[in-house]
Amino acid sequence: MVRREKSPDESRETAVRPASPEDTPAEEELTPFEAVNFQLDRAARRLSLGEQTQIALKTPFREVMTELPLRCDDGSLRVFRGYRIQHDSARGPMKGGIRYHPEVEIDEVRALASLMTWKTAVVSLPFGGAKGGVDCDPSTLSRSDLQRLTRRYTERMHLFIGPNVDIPAPDVNTNPEVMAWIVDEYSKFHGFSPGVVTGKPVEIGGSEGRLSATGEGLAVVTARALEEEGRSVEGATVAIQGFGNVGSHAALALSARGARIVAVSDVKGGICQGDGLDVEGCVRAVDEAGSVVDYDGPHDEISNAELLAMEADVLVPAALGGVLTGENAGEVKAGLIVEGANGPTTPAAEQILEERGVRQLPDILANAGGVTVSYFEWVQNAQNTSWDRERVRGELEEVMLRAFDDVSEQAREAEVSPRLAAFMVAVRRVARAAELRGL
Ligand code: NAD
Repeated sequence: MVRREKSPDESRETAVRPASPEDTPAEEELTPFEAVNFQLDRAARRLSLGEQTQIALKTPFREVMTELPLRCDDGSLRVFRGYRIQHDSARGPMKGGIRYHPEVEIDEVRALASLMTWKTAVVSLPFGGAKGGVDCDPSTLSRSDLQRLTRRYTERMHLFIGPNVDIPAPDVNTNPEVMAWIVDEYSKFHGFSPGVVTGKPVEIGGSEGRLSATGEGLAVVTARALEEEGRSVEGATVAIQGFGNVGSHAALALSARGARIVAVSDVKGGICQGDGLDVEGCVRAVDEAGSVVDYDGPHDEISNAELLAMEADVLVPAALGGVLTGENAGEVKAGLIVEGANGPTTPAAEQILEERGVRQLPDILANAGGVTVSYFEWVQNAQNTSWDRERVRGELEEVMLRAFDDVSEQAREAEVSPRLAAFMVAVRRVARAAELRGL
């Protein structure tokens, strides 16, 4: 995405100021936080919420930024910047992942924190929204560097997080092991507290089914969306950008439902095969060689840009944000986009896709399976109990289908797109909770 250079304060000011009464985005690309607030404003206008309420709903509750000096195993001293942005807690403790990526910066963390508020609301979980990140490139750090960096981050943040305050989880480049280090460090200050994060290893209070939850939830709503159009997921062709946690589990879950995965990609490039790729083979390639491009079955190579323009029934962007823009949206050939990643479609792209009749299942609905099973994990921790895989899978499906139906009903009633409908459902719930609590 093209981003205008702004100071953190300036970008926050412009992003939360009152909205223009336009339903279409400005010509220039918006920053990630402005893009989320564009969606919020549009929904708030439809719900006739006042200007002051809109500003209150946009403004983050708390922003913590900290320097993280690290003496690396190679002897160098490096200083990273860590963030935790807590957006809203009207509906419950705040919830959201921690991302390790060199491009982590404050505007994007704000956008992701805000998205978590709307995501937890649209699936009706008793949580608010938050997000964290460290601007590091984990591929340049040793495992023990990463552990020390995670402990330093936790030491700086422990006063601001907690099982009833703000509960982090894995995101890009963080995993159950990183969550285990956070539990250990946080517990030094507060006593053993597995509920401080979700997405932990099962052995220390993680939930069965958490790792695959986002991909499985995505498959549930994809199948429902196709059914709504009178089609079946069985035999549908799917192209997936990103083959990490979300992309790989979405591929597995969709192919288990009979879909044909015709293209996948990761940061190193993509592969395609019209008859369908062997998804297990792609997973093996990533496990053994680090990338889908090392897949040894029959395939052609494609770039990430080509994948987005593939002939397929369904396109699943499941890597990073801002990949579908005003520049490439006209080339998309899929009839249905299911957003595995957070914020993959800019408002300018959204408008072009909508005009072209491409249906879009928004991130706050499509990738909410992960936070849903995170909620199950938090419930299990609070009750000192554990659910089996089948129970998790069944309850996840129930939550995702209910959310899908709420959004569909809103879309039909207000005659709006699934994205606007999802924001309307979420914003109404958060605004009502804030009003009831007198916030
Ligand atoms: P991950 O780190 O496991 O995987 C990311 C994938 O994207 C990898 O295959 C990586 O190679 C690929 N990638 C990275 N940069 C790329 C680029 N420039 N071009 C193409 N591919 C690229 O991360 P994840 O957990 O799968 O998260 C992916 C997206 O889904 C993120 O936007 C994240 O915020 C969102 N998300 C994740 C979860 C979850 O439970 N993990 C839940 C909701 C949303």
